[in-house]
Amino acid sequence: MNKVLSRAQQSRYGRQLLLPQFGFDGQETLSTSTALIVGLGGLGCAAAQYLAASGIGRLLLADFDNVELSNLQRQVLHGDADLGKNKAESAAQALAAINPHVELVPLIERIEVERVEVASDGRGIAKIGITQVDISKVDVVVDCSDNLATRELLNEVCYQHQTPLVSGAAIRMEGQVAVFPMTPGAPCYQCLSRHFGEQELSCVEAGVLAPLVGIIGSMQALEAIKVLTGVGKTLAGRLLLFDGAYGEWQSFGLPVWSDCLVCQNAS
Ligand SMILES: [Zn+2]
Repeated sequence: MNKVLSRAQQSRYGRQLLLPQFGFDGQETLSTSTALIVGLGGLGCAAAQYLAASGIGRLLLADFDNVELSNLQRQVLHGDADLGKNKAESAAQALAAINPHVELVPLIERIEVERVEVASDGRGIAKIGITQVDISKVDVVVDCSDNLATRELLNEVCYQHQTPLVSGAAIRMEGQVAVFPMTPGAPCYQCLSRHFGEQELSCVEAGVLAPLVGIIGSMQALEAIKVLTGVGKTLAGRLLLFDGAYGEWQSFGLPVWSDCLVCQNAS
């Protein structure tokens, strides 16, 4: 790649350029990358601010909700003056102030799904897409949504387009992070979510301590940068769990579910 970082960019990103694994190549790759962040709540605010500050090229910010008073305890890109504003637009304003060189695209409608093709055997997953975004042109999807239906939908769309998915969740004082590269033989989010059943709670019912979403959202930003630049080793094939009450991290191998309707549907 011949593109050279300007003097100002070299200064802005100097501490990353010093990292031998990352360097100029990593910075230039990041600067030409696009991430879709779904949900600009607690996780999304944390993930978005680090992706923007570190110099990602383009951020698509999807959220149809408006900022409410009960969000401000943990959704750090939104402030009092943003109450009633759409979260994607509020986040885009805050991120532009952090790094004006990032292209910010707020998507303020509820994510709509398009099913293009229905599998003939009734078992396979149809080809689906999100109507507002061409996922095949997104380099990584960072799932910061707060409900199982959206997570499973994003997983299907990412699998169809082989777009890597960085998943995060936080509730009470516990969080989890996983990366689904959507490569052959790797587990997908559905391989994991089948263990949750119907009893998944949201932080509306169960509560969440503010710093927890910052920790998990920051981990998602870190994993997204690793996915985009090839630096380090991502959490692909593993589930990382954080217990904030006791300050303990644990990781487990994630097996492929042999009956997964998403990633094991091919004959
Ligand atoms: Zn699967």
